[in-house]
Amino acid sequence: MKITVLGCSGAQFPGHNPAGFLLDGKILFDAGSLTTVLDGHAQSKIKDIFITHAHLDHIRDISFLADNIIVAKRKQNVNIISIRSVISTIKKNLLNDSLWPDFTMIPDYENAVLRYLTVTEGAPLKVNGYHITAYRVNHSVPAVGYLVEDRKNKRFFYTGDTGPTGSTWKKIGDRKLDCLIIEVSFPNRMSEMAALTGHLTSRLLKEEIRKIKQMPDRIYITHIKPQHLRVIRAEIENLGMKNIKLLKDRDVISI
Ligand SMILES: [Zn+2]
Ligand SMILES: [Zn+2]
Repeated sequence: MKITVLGCSGAQFPGHNPAGFLLDGKILFDAGSLTTVLDGHAQSKIKDIFITHAHLDHIRDISFLADNIIVAKRKQNVNIISIRSVISTIKKNLLNDSLWPDFTMIPDYENAVLRYLTVTEGAPLKVNGYHITAYRVNHSVPAVGYLVEDRKNKRFFYTGDTGPTGSTWKKIGDRKLDCLIIEVSFPNRMSEMAALTGHLTSRLLKEEIRKIKQMPDRIYITHIKPQHLRVIRAEIENLGMKNIKLLKDRDVISI
């Protein structure tokens, strides 16, 4: 498994792109920085986009990808995959023929550029030889993280945006994660804001990690607010955990 980090920022600034993790060049997790980062050729390889939740920083580039496909007259159909409530928010509020065209009807329903695919929490979907399963996390809107398992039993979990969560770690099972991509958005002094908005600080991260039965081999931090990068980096270093690394855009994770 090769994961390319298109974006891992909790805000948008030059050089800091919102969430996008590309698996093997084909399967995308979150569409915050798809068309911002990938050229037309790389965009044409994408078949499936798993969305953690319907906040704009995780979905916005679905719109521009669809437009690019039509303009290039490419025969490319992309599945937009998530739980029902997330799909319904995208349908109602983004691709609603008002804010942006409904690309599930363009050029026509049969050949549509985009297709919605609803998944059930806890039920794996088989894509490209991977088993990909949505598990509910704890954010300010309905949100899931994704567990990805390959044929060799390697597995990683991407949380998307989440605050402290009890049940998620129990549900993903006892087997060790090779890799955990988890968010930390705020510094410790902003824990009230984190609680209010469904995000983690590094102190809360430590508590989450304690809830996981077996320590993941590697832990990568995503969704940091760049305005607080220095403080958050210091706070995470202070946790004294050797297997934690802060992600940056364009990093490549091999599992
Ligand atoms: Zn969010
Ligand atoms: Zn976000």
